[in-house]
Amino acid sequence: MTPPAHTSPLPPDGALAELAASCAACRRCGLAAGRTHVVVSRGNPRARLMVIGEGPGAQEDASGLPFVGRAGQLLDQMLASVGIDSQRDAYIANVVKCRPPDNRKPTPEEMAACRPWLAKQIELVNPAVILLAGATALEGVLGVKGGITKLRGQWRAGEGEGLEGRWLMPIFHPSYLLRNPSREKESPKWHTWQDLKEVRRRLDGEGRP
Ligand code: SF4
Repeated sequence: MTPPAHTSPLPPDGALAELAASCAACRRCGLAAGRTHVVVSRGNPRARLMVIGEGPGAQEDASGLPFVGRAGQLLDQMLASVGIDSQRDAYIANVVKCRPPDNRKPTPEEMAACRPWLAKQIELVNPAVILLAGATALEGVLGVKGGITKLRGQWRAGEGEGLEGRWLMPIFHPSYLLRNPSREKESPKWHTWQDLKEVRRRLDGEGRP
């Protein structure tokens, strides 16, 4: 059986609860107006792997948890295929914590307004590896714009803003994979599986990005 990959110390007592309470009261950007819940996180705050997506969709907004709709289920399955349990071995969050209307991409201003919350999560959880799910996560976290098809699967060393010493891996967003279900060699799903195997190796301390 694949061993779990969670060995980080727990964040200070109460720090994540305090952060969640601050997020719940946040009205720093216009997305506050349309939300049902502020969606902060799910998973294990001791995990060495953090997954960052774009923002909440309808089911996430309704439940208050990130990645719980069909895309989240696919993410869970794909992580499980490399021995990563999304609740035990990962801490999952988004670039923006309130749902953008009609599931549109968050604006640069909205991402910047929400960035301090994400930065605090990264500081508290202290992940060794961060998986960036989709082009918006890549843009929101590293400021890198471009097609995810070209950028996925390449390790990036974190620099500045609390990212030093962390390794970041962009992957296709699971919503894109739902629209492209082929598992054939060189398909987006196949590439994502290779990327996740690489992430697993990194968490296990093997391989050099
Ligand atoms: S998206 Fe982020 S910055 Fe905007 S209101 Fe929600 S928690 Fe605050």
